[in-house]
Amino acid sequence: MVNIPSKIKIANLPTKIEKLERLSKKLGGPSIFIKRDDQTGIEFSGNKVRKLEFAVKEAMDQGCNLLITCGGIQSNHARATAAVAAKVGMASCLVLRTNKEEEIDGNYFLDKILGAKIKFITPKEYKESRMEIMEELKQELSKEGYKPYIIPEGASNGIGTFGYFNAMEEIIEQEKEMGIKFDAVVIAVGSGGTYGGLFLGNKVMNNGAKIYGVNACENEEYFKNQIDKVIKESLDYIDEVVEFTKDEINILDGYVGRGYALSRPEEIEFIHEIAKLEGIILDPVYTGKAMYGLANEIKKGSFKNHNNILFIHTGGLYGLFSKKDLFSF
Ligand SMILES: *Cc1c(COP(=O)(O)O)cnc(C)c1O
Repeated sequence: MVNIPSKIKIANLPTKIEKLERLSKKLGGPSIFIKRDDQTGIEFSGNKVRKLEFAVKEAMDQGCNLLITCGGIQSNHARATAAVAAKVGMASCLVLRTNKEEEIDGNYFLDKILGAKIKFITPKEYKESRMEIMEELKQELSKEGYKPYIIPEGASNGIGTFGYFNAMEEIIEQEKEMGIKFDAVVIAVGSGGTYGGLFLGNKVMNNGAKIYGVNACENEEYFKNQIDKVIKESLDYIDEVVEFTKDEINILDGYVGRGYALSRPEEIEFIHEIAKLEGIILDPVYTGKAMYGLANEIKKGSFKNHNNILFIHTGGLYGLFSKKDLFSF
């Protein structure tokens, strides 16, 4: 077995896998299963906690006592970071992107309750210089006596990626217990670390599943580069030669819609439909778009060579609350 870095234990793992009987039947294609990574916890629910288990361990080993990270105003990652920080007795400082006065709602509301210090920056500053802004904050907070540790967007870096390397191992274990083989794993992609970890785990453990990512922003080329980069950073932590090319990274582009965190009526309707059909609530920013993409691709026949698809529900429920006005009942 490969020697990966150590982690702290915070998430409720393993997360369960269930079959979506009615959706599979409705689409008439392969069987669709869902892995409930939205149930990794309440305060730190979603996929980010798996990455944070590794990143925060590294921060603790370095003697740090404050976590700095960044994201959009409704960032699940920022909220999970604030929750994990409080859980391990650290402070947190979140750099959030917005260009307007924000209502205290959803994840941002939880950030405040969890005691995070918050700094707002504009979309332009975020795009061009979020890393520099976090570095400056680190200097300032160091002067106040803190020892800060910076976690990049989505904890999608070398260390964070092991969260989903581990999740792949968990999936392989569950396949054995269930007597099932998932030949495709489908997830939403936002900063690439989840995809990178699954891809690396799948490769290293010779699992042979095809990993598909539905991008929630940017485009295919951007993510092939970003994922290639995070995987290479991860390889620096393990003594392993892993050969792969960017061609093996499968991005199902075409479902960004109106843009990051912006919803189209058909996406909202789809979320509503799945909630009524399966009792599962998807989020508007990632999983709603990703499963909408999966359903469309199944209808188009893109998955006809697969028998069992595993969709990972990566969380995001709290972000839905700020979109309540888009639903009609
Ligand atoms: C961050 C996030 C993703 C995307 O994961 P990345 O590792 O950033 O690509 C997917 N779903 C939800 C709910 C998220 O919060």
